[in-house]
Amino acid sequence: MLDARESQLKAWGLILFVSVMFAGCASGPPSAPTLDRLGGSPLPDFENFDRAGVDVIQGGFPPGRQPDGNTVILASSDGLIVFDTGRHLFHTQKIIDNARKAGQPVAAIINSHWHLDHISGNIPLRELFPGAAIYSNGAAVENALRTFLARGRESNAKMLEDPTLTPEIIDEISIDAATVEQGELLEPTVSIERAQAITIGGRRLEFHTAAGASDGDIWVFDPASGVVMTGDLVTLPAPFLDTPCPKAWSAALEEILATPFQRAIPGHGREMTRADIVLYRDAFNALIACAQGAAEPLACADAWTAAAAPLQENAELDNRYARGMSRNYVENVLRKDGVREDCLA
Ligand SMILES: [Zn+2]
Repeated sequence: MLDARESQLKAWGLILFVSVMFAGCASGPPSAPTLDRLGGSPLPDFENFDRAGVDVIQGGFPPGRQPDGNTVILASSDGLIVFDTGRHLFHTQKIIDNARKAGQPVAAIINSHWHLDHISGNIPLRELFPGAAIYSNGAAVENALRTFLARGRESNAKMLEDPTLTPEIIDEISIDAATVEQGELLEPTVSIERAQAITIGGRRLEFHTAAGASDGDIWVFDPASGVVMTGDLVTLPAPFLDTPCPKAWSAALEEILATPFQRAIPGHGREMTRADIVLYRDAFNALIACAQGAAEPLACADAWTAAAAPLQENAELDNRYARGMSRNYVENVLRKDGVREDCLA
């Protein structure tokens, strides 16, 4: 097992990396006070409920801050089905605003995996919509709370003693610490540990499981709209290799491509086509193969950045992130002991 310090460094590797690389470039959005969760920002304009009742709230990745995963909202006869709930209240507030504007309750929440940028918003949403069913991999959530997230919580106090931390990073650490404090509220009401079709409010969804980006990934295909929601099996500007099993991840990308989807909503980044997912799979496999070879980490990162460039939204900033993140993951995860233990068997 990893010792606490090592796993803490790993847990915060991304945020530290981002802060070092981009400190001073631009400031992030104002922080959402924890207790302001039910008040909040004015209603944004949600006009983008599109065909077959699908809405996307794209997660941000502002400089100096940790990201929010993308949220997908599906209409159903019981109310809204919310796929992933974000980390920051300024993201989750958009889900709440969407429900208010639609005059619908949140009937169900699906979490693609237990990483805090996809699941933290469960807490305020459960408070507002106590009847919502929560679908996620319960064993993986419990395991994360016992191990990875518990160790992170222990080390938070130490991290906060570092006088060089920016106010944004202190805020990020505090947000995650507050979420983990209420860890039992992150657990599902319905645990999904194998592939199955589930009908929610008349909408039949095909749930799939994997153990690629985490030990309990769920991705969902919605035949009514042709949308596939991949969670962090697909992310931009680079694969988020924080708790990876590369071979299972690669297999999951093939399974996603085997469904007849027309639109793919990734865990982070813009909506993608089938051709985009093919490009992503090829670039992902090449990055893993490069990491397993003898090339310099920067050479692997440059190859990823060039291959993934057509998928990025903001060429200048995203390509910098793509290069820096992929180099960091090759050097500090794939070539160290960052591949999950359950993957090594
Ligand atoms: Zn994520």
